[in-house]
Amino acid sequence: MPRIQLLAPSVTTKIAAGEVIERPSSVVKELLENAVDAGASRIDVEVEQGGTELIRVVDNGCGIEPEDLPLAFASHATSKLRDADDLFQIGTLGFRGEALASIGGVSQTVLQSRVPGRDAGLEIRCDGGTLSETKPWGGAAGTRLEIRHLFFNTPVRRKFLRSPPTEMGHVTESFTRLALAHLSLHWTLTHNGRTVYELPATTGLLDRVAMFFGNEVSAKLFEVRVEQGPAVLRGYFADPQLDRGNARMQYVFINRRWIRDRNIGHAIQEAYRGLLMTGRYAVVFLFLELPPDQVDVNVHPTKAEVRFREPNAIHHLVHAGLRERLRRENLTARLIPTSTLGPPRATDFTSGAANAGLPPWTLAAPQGPSHLPFSPPSATPLPPMAPSAPGLAPEPPRTPPLPIASSCHRAFQLYDTYLVAETDEGMLVIDQHALHERILFEQLKRRWREGKIERQPLLIPEPVDLTPEQAGRALEHRDAFGELGIEIEAFGGDTILIRTAPAVLSRATPAAVFRAVVDHLLAKDRPPQHDVLFNDLLSLVACHSAIRAGDRLPPEEIAALLEQRRLADDAHHCPHGRPTALLFSRADLERQFGRI
Ligand code: ADP
Ligand code: MG
Repeated sequence: MPRIQLLAPSVTTKIAAGEVIERPSSVVKELLENAVDAGASRIDVEVEQGGTELIRVVDNGCGIEPEDLPLAFASHATSKLRDADDLFQIGTLGFRGEALASIGGVSQTVLQSRVPGRDAGLEIRCDGGTLSETKPWGGAAGTRLEIRHLFFNTPVRRKFLRSPPTEMGHVTESFTRLALAHLSLHWTLTHNGRTVYELPATTGLLDRVAMFFGNEVSAKLFEVRVEQGPAVLRGYFADPQLDRGNARMQYVFINRRWIRDRNIGHAIQEAYRGLLMTGRYAVVFLFLELPPDQVDVNVHPTKAEVRFREPNAIHHLVHAGLRERLRRENLTARLIPTSTLGPPRATDFTSGAANAGLPPWTLAAPQGPSHLPFSPPSATPLPPMAPSAPGLAPEPPRTPPLPIASSCHRAFQLYDTYLVAETDEGMLVIDQHALHERILFEQLKRRWREGKIERQPLLIPEPVDLTPEQAGRALEHRDAFGELGIEIEAFGGDTILIRTAPAVLSRATPAAVFRAVVDHLLAKDRPPQHDVLFNDLLSLVACHSAIRAGDRLPPEEIAALLEQRRLADDAHHCPHGRPTALLFSRADLERQFGRI
């Protein structure tokens, strides 16, 4: 057994750095937090090669006192915290005193700083953890940090970095999160000499949202402002029409710190219940303000996760705030039938029951709980398979034997959404979208295996504006798009040009499918296996191309769909695993009516 030894500081720094600094965007995040904490009114960020070569952050904040400069790179050295009690009264973004130590340990860093009012500033370098002597520096008041060759001394880490466009996507995301939460600052971001964002100070969040995501998003937002006990929720959230394929556009901030929180994510999805398809996510920009002692931010090295003292109260505040506002928008006409929604997932952070207890804080008037028009979480819709007709016992789903091969004698459409068909075995109720999706999926898969998904050149190639992160990922997977029948090319900036679309795509616009696929690719941390990836992608294309709930079908189309049903390998389930049909057997009907 090897003996226990204390590790050398050069090793411990690298281990600690591994927790805080994962990639260039982590450096950007930490430096921007420091600049915000320094009270800067302007922050300029310059990046080269996605941050793998250079990251430079310049602020006009309070600067660092000359005698403190060497301490800035020491581990657990901070000016923001004095004792352990302060941990529960944190008003700054930083407090762990680890960022500069970590960054300096795995890069070649130059720190230059001058306190406003002082004649001269000072410069110090940190090269892979080794500090230089300080020397005078004559720059403007504020702080300037230059990080070169990140991970130059940890080659394995360096290998984990992705292409510069992908890394730049992450950098932009870090920048976006901070700039959304700090509107009164002037921000700029430059990549390889090109200005990516120039954001003057503003008072309106909508302005900034428009700068980042375009008017398309900012024009479709509803405002929310509710209070509950000591907590305030304000911000904007989008019309469900603006839905996305992943939760990346759910920006949630606690006391102006961006966080990721499953409990809040769940509350958002619950608020949109019935308004979004399974697997779709709303766009939100939510700012929660809480007394610092209500939230523990010291649970995660990058401070991206927090712990709430009253998680149920937070869940309630978000859910009720959004739901009430959505109800007032009168969106019910666009409600998607619950049959296209999955059953409430047991794996979700909180089940409805967990929130059924009254939260310790109640909503401020006029949104007292008694005004809340939506049903309490315990009354969530039944799982789609349970027959809901009165008198029918809610039996578990009848998986096979469903009448696949037997033909349907007569059929008609119900609510422009379901097909009711008479078969020898009984009455079949079919979800038209789910069935068509299945059929298209199987067709596409067959053609894909044979390498011949038909493509159609677009008369006018379509430009699609993306975020840098999306554009980076799309170009990385250019070949996969080609296999799907979507030929793309870079079109300058973060715009991608679509040249061809899969021929099957008669209903959806190529851009919508393209965006959905990009979102799907972004949702994966690592590229999945080729087959698995294509299974998902083909099902996305099928979903976008299929007849929708709400489409009225002429009798010929109903007949054609039912005919194709007989040819499908698995007509029981749509590609997402939801049922396509429910059978009410003839025997069941007769029993219910007392005929047998
Ligand atoms: P933390 O932010 O958790 O205190 P850091 O390692 O990020 O730890 O920074 C260490 C210290 O260096 C900070 O507490 C602060 O005093 C000083 N510092 C870092 N960046 C800046 C800056 N841009 N302006 C002023 N002071 C800074
Ligand atoms: Mg910091």
